[in-house]
Amino acid sequence: MSPLTHDPPRALPGPARSPELLLRGLARGERGDRLTHVHRVPARDAVLAEWPQWVPAALYAALTQSGVTHLWSHQRQAADAAHAGQHVVLSTGTASGKSLGYLLPVASDLVDGSVAPTGRGATALYLSPTKALAQDQLSRLEALAVPGLRPATYDGDTPTEERRWIRDHANYVLTNPDLIHHSLLPGHEHWAPFLRALRYVVIDECHVYRGVFGTHLALLLRRLRRVAARYHSYPTFVLASATVADPGTHAGRLIGMPVRPVTQDGSPRAAMTFGLWEPGMAGGRGSDGEPPRRRSAVAESADLLADLVEQGVQTVAFARSRSGVEVVAAAARNHLREVDPTLEGGVAAYRGGYLPEERRELERSLRAGELVGLAATNALELGIDVSGLDAVLLAGWPGTRASMWQQAGRAGRAGAESLAILVAADDPLDTYLVHHPRAIFDAPVEAAVLDPENPHVLGPHLAAAAAELHVTEEDAALFGPTMVALLDALVGKGVLRRRPRGWFWGRSDRASDHVSLRGSGETVRIVEQRTGRVLGTVDEARAHPAVHTGAVYLHQSETYVVTELDLADASALVVPGDPGWSTQARSVSAFDIVGVERSKEWGRITCCFGPVDVHSQVTSFLRRLPTGEVIGEHPLDLPVRTLSTKAVWWTIPPEILEGAGISEPDIPGAAHAAEHAAIGMLPLVATSDRWDIGGVSTARHPDTGLPTILIYDAHPGGAGFAERGFEAVRTWLGSTRDAIVACECLAGCPSCVQSPKCGNGNEPLDKAAAIRLLDLTLAAAGPGS
Ligand SMILES: [Zn+2]
Ligand SMILES: [Zn+2]
Repeated sequence: MSPLTHDPPRALPGPARSPELLLRGLARGERGDRLTHVHRVPARDAVLAEWPQWVPAALYAALTQSGVTHLWSHQRQAADAAHAGQHVVLSTGTASGKSLGYLLPVASDLVDGSVAPTGRGATALYLSPTKALAQDQLSRLEALAVPGLRPATYDGDTPTEERRWIRDHANYVLTNPDLIHHSLLPGHEHWAPFLRALRYVVIDECHVYRGVFGTHLALLLRRLRRVAARYHSYPTFVLASATVADPGTHAGRLIGMPVRPVTQDGSPRAAMTFGLWEPGMAGGRGSDGEPPRRRSAVAESADLLADLVEQGVQTVAFARSRSGVEVVAAAARNHLREVDPTLEGGVAAYRGGYLPEERRELERSLRAGELVGLAATNALELGIDVSGLDAVLLAGWPGTRASMWQQAGRAGRAGAESLAILVAADDPLDTYLVHHPRAIFDAPVEAAVLDPENPHVLGPHLAAAAAELHVTEEDAALFGPTMVALLDALVGKGVLRRRPRGWFWGRSDRASDHVSLRGSGETVRIVEQRTGRVLGTVDEARAHPAVHTGAVYLHQSETYVVTELDLADASALVVPGDPGWSTQARSVSAFDIVGVERSKEWGRITCCFGPVDVHSQVTSFLRRLPTGEVIGEHPLDLPVRTLSTKAVWWTIPPEILEGAGISEPDIPGAAHAAEHAAIGMLPLVATSDRWDIGGVSTARHPDTGLPTILIYDAHPGGAGFAERGFEAVRTWLGSTRDAIVACECLAGCPSCVQSPKCGNGNEPLDKAAAIRLLDLTLAAAGPGS
């Protein structure tokens, strides 16, 4: 099925009733108890601002001719701050015109025409996390046609002959972190005139830079600042972010300098009705031998999409994977065909990765009303404008409140009220959220964590920095107090050379090739067997469970089978195709506590944060049908690997457990179930993905001598997630307990204590004992954090 359908345009009736009535209508009959909460997001009035006097006439004319007649207050605030040379982050909602906020000061300086002492006018760099977004910015700037503004994209696809022209003539270069890392910084001499005139660095969508990726970006920006300073440039940083908690602190950690936050959104917004929806149990509650399982968010969303399309309500349904998108679109079309065959063609799937023309065509058919229902991955978040729909369905929690608001913000025609529905997926975090609406609507958005001092990420960046310009003692102001020790360690490994003037790159190859901006430590390449093409990389830490020989591996939502994991060559050979089953690695794990950095004593229960070594060995894998049925177990011969990372753990003496009715034989099941749910709930307090985190629990740990539950960052050196868990431990474990209690299954299911990545096949798990274990932990911890 083509993603774009071209049936004759139909008149678009739009929602005949209020969004709230529409929502109540969806929840009638047998779906009566699935709507767990209705929240109303109130309308917001516009706050207008005058144009700044400093905007040049040519830019003012171009903008007003393109239809920009006035500014919102936040655009003016951010623009004034940046124009005055203040680093600023603009953190407001979707479709609030953030790009005008940074374009005003940047373009004003670029078209100003005054020539710097260096012989060319001012320049600016624009960084976006994806190529699509940079392309999109370029087409908007080209449409504006501001005299004197010479924008150009510079990415991996830019031909060599064009690169030179761009370096020498463009004054607004739109690029991505990878290009800065692999091309601009290592070849900075070629960029000398551009860097001498560098006045602004714009960082768009900066909320995506978190965890290990955020740490990489923070260090990359320090390298950029250092190289720019070599050319006497001290650019102003202007950052744009979705609404996140404390954007000023996050942006400040990214660039390594104080940043002024602008967060008061002056753009108008119509009211929105937001429904929380929990699909019913599909296989009973687990009492009659059938495995308990909730109906999937994808299947439920397909039903809702079909219902909405049938009523003429233009809707986009966001799913978390490409295969989920296909299922939503196909199932919705099937439903509609039964009702009215003419409706079927109004539903399409959009999976991202399209050419700009295809994206524009999609935008057009939505605006024309030829498409009434669209299923999409959140790739749509970046690079295509589909704002102004009637309703948005979220098939599963999108990971962060920032993403949720960004996706929900796609609904809302000018002045018309809109509808959004979050459909819970089968995991503890989703279960918790649809039963605790305050955690969605009243809580501050997540703190974006990153740790610029993680030695596993900092070390390779120091090596890359030394290759760009030798590193001196003064650079510790940028790279932190651990810099000298890490540099000396690199000298010991023969990577750098120590000379009187500082540390120099000591090898013949390129330093930047040793750093992947999206991972940490060593990587294993995913190689397509037939073509030899490298599809991507996985961290070595994840290679054993994810790409062992025989694994079914999802890469950018496409399915591959691993034919061979070659550890010596650090590669995994894959062939494309979906064999019809999934695989799950089984492993054994143990850990050593290396030290305790911080701890909290709650009576005889102790909670700690510190460095640990986690030893794990993948021993076999299971093949499973989509129903969950296991069709075979296959042994693997892989070595034990050790991950040195950071963890949060807590210990409870067995007597205390006994007092709460958890006797010795029940401890493993209680601790294991609490560990799984706690892993699933950590994203509530840290902006992590459940795959960024691992856990081990044991009834008696050799280091503590006690039952111990440990949750660790699954990245060498840690990523900041476990530390956030330690800091917000009361909130985190309290919501973990509530998520388990809220699930109506009897003995545990994927919505509460089962984990899709359990190395132990989800054995043993004791849901009731886990609740008692968490209750006594929380009672001992008392109120507070
Ligand atoms: Zn359950
Ligand atoms: Zn497990």
